[in-house]
Amino acid sequence: MSARFRIGQGTDIHRLVAGRQLILGGVEIPWEKGLLGHSDADIVCHAVSNALLGAIGEGDIGRHFPDSDPRYKGVSSIELLCIVMGLVKGKGFRVGNVDLTVLAERPKLGPYREAMRANLATVLEVTSDAINIKAITGEQMGFVGREEGMMAEAVVLLESAE
Ligand code: MG
Repeated sequence: MSARFRIGQGTDIHRLVAGRQLILGGVEIPWEKGLLGHSDADIVCHAVSNALLGAIGEGDIGRHFPDSDPRYKGVSSIELLCIVMGLVKGKGFRVGNVDLTVLAERPKLGPYREAMRANLATVLEVTSDAINIKAITGEQMGFVGREEGMMAEAVVLLESAE
């Protein structure tokens, strides 16, 4: 892969249910519901992982970490992101920056933003200022607004490490 730059985009959606811990960007957020999934259902890590895989032309996390594989049941998505980052480095790239939007009606994510940035920055081997996290609500419309689920979208720029 000889390009100087590669760009990738990732999206993830999970359903909100009672009785699950809400984890976003590897941060445990105290809340009345959590996201349902085979792993910890961390939509932030999943969206970033999909963006990274997109940038290196490696498909998506469903292909790399299938729901049918018991190894990934309840796994921390920070660990999955570490594996994906290993693939990025193996292709000769490093992360330039990440821009991320979380769509969630509640709770307010501002208090957790810096912890999420720090977690992602550590795994992606960048400083926190290379990770931007935005949060918007669904304005009480659609699945986000009705608090049936949450969504995250990420865009990542990779630079050649050579
Ligand atoms: Mg997911």
